[in-house]
Amino acid sequence: MIFDLVFRGGLLVDGSGAPARRADVGVVGDRIAAIGDLSSADAGTVLDVSGLVVAPGFVDPHSHTDASVLVDGGLASHLRQGYTTQLSGNCGETLAPLTPSSAALLAPLMESHGVAPAWSTFGGYLAAVDAVSKASNIAFVVGQGTVRASVLGAAERPPTADELALMEAHVAEAMEAGALGISTGLIYPPGIHASAQEIARLVAVAFRHGGLYATHMRNEADAVAAAIDEALATARAAEVIAGVPGRLQISHLKVAVTSGFGTGPALVAQIARAREAGLDVAADQYPYTAAHTTLATILPPDILALELDDAVVALRDPATRARIRELWRTGEGTWENIVADPGWGGLVIAFSRTRPQWMGRSLVEIGQAEGADPGDLALDALADERLAIDIVLHCMDERDVSAIMAVPWISVCTDAETRRPGHPILGRGHPHPRGYGSAPRVLGRYVREMGVLTLEAAVAKLSAVPAARLGLDRRGEVREGWAADLVAFDPATVLDLASFEDPAQYPVGIPHVVVNGELALRDGEETGAASGRLLRRGE
Ligand SMILES: [Zn+2]
Repeated sequence: MIFDLVFRGGLLVDGSGAPARRADVGVVGDRIAAIGDLSSADAGTVLDVSGLVVAPGFVDPHSHTDASVLVDGGLASHLRQGYTTQLSGNCGETLAPLTPSSAALLAPLMESHGVAPAWSTFGGYLAAVDAVSKASNIAFVVGQGTVRASVLGAAERPPTADELALMEAHVAEAMEAGALGISTGLIYPPGIHASAQEIARLVAVAFRHGGLYATHMRNEADAVAAAIDEALATARAAEVIAGVPGRLQISHLKVAVTSGFGTGPALVAQIARAREAGLDVAADQYPYTAAHTTLATILPPDILALELDDAVVALRDPATRARIRELWRTGEGTWENIVADPGWGGLVIAFSRTRPQWMGRSLVEIGQAEGADPGDLALDALADERLAIDIVLHCMDERDVSAIMAVPWISVCTDAETRRPGHPILGRGHPHPRGYGSAPRVLGRYVREMGVLTLEAAVAKLSAVPAARLGLDRRGEVREGWAADLVAFDPATVLDLASFEDPAQYPVGIPHVVVNGELALRDGEETGAASGRLLRRGE
């Protein structure tokens, strides 16, 4: 056999969890053609990978690259980590369906990325992504928040029967166009206004098409256990409505409240019990003790329910501000009150258009520097920027992150959009480092430095485990006949360099990445190959 590409002399960790072994890997076209001793094989390209681990290309089950992929198909910050496939469209927000009533919700993301939409349906959006030259693969779930907005706008009320039927039709259209499932973001408007019953109806449509339900739950802090129960009940209800089994993925599992630190193992046990009871449920996690979200999450749900223009007016109203302050002080139970915990010192501004000098600093530091109250500063800034301010939220404990990391069925995600340092759009701001460092951080810190898990287990959590969750066709393991998505990394040096202080840094120790049989990264340099694909459900 003549190979197009051979990785020779490496240590194969094939993604299945099997022990590492010495084996060459030969590629023909876009498929893995042979695994074993290929020392005398003919090949168009032979790479000596002695000293390196050869593994399946990593699969990110939770990203936010919906707008980014239309800006730059190089997908650099994912590729450099060894990710060959990512699932975007998470936390309830996608760029379709786009109707007059969802346009306002989607405008900030479109405008910040200079995206001029030429689609209305989810299928139209997927066609736009398909048309972009891409260095790696990308797939999508459809966002329940966008679906709701496309019918109900920002309204806080439940849908009528006709409106619910219209939402179901939007989900069906997305699934038939190739979405892998549906996502929710139940701390964000408009998803926050949807009842579990309303969500179950839409999830049932996804299940009927063989899709996945991925949820950013209603609470990850003081009521996270109840939120897990809601997610499990929603999936079970959807299975009953659909009449078929479904798959539930709990997105970025975490304990984000000081009083809950140390309860990570109990949450894992809660999910494990549902697995033992027959529900196909798993989770993913990013390997950091801080989150990344929008500063608008400091606002109570009724403010977030307003149309954007009305919300901006409300934020400048003294009586409304007094009520918000009162809820910050006393408000528990109705929403994740991050002002109460972790408090202003844990809220670090990641991106602000009007106040770039705030980026990388906490609201306590900003308040001291400006001689003003952090709450007033935050509300003024939200009004000035029409709520579009990003924060890094230091809200977790390493014990919980490590406990969740040790679980074999919990995948590793980035929860980030793909970025590129220095790019006028994708290099802006002060993002969470997870977008640059998640996979190498697991390999360098949690495997090599901390010994939380074995190399084989980590590779499986980065490849085969998420690939199976997504329902990808023959991806996520190094096996003959499977897709030639591969990564070669140095287990002795692989490491994330991205930090909270200086996040826009590629990792080290990952020289080669192959996507559908072509070298997309070679000797640490992007080759310009555009062999990435839009993966529709079942592909
Ligand atoms: Zn989320």
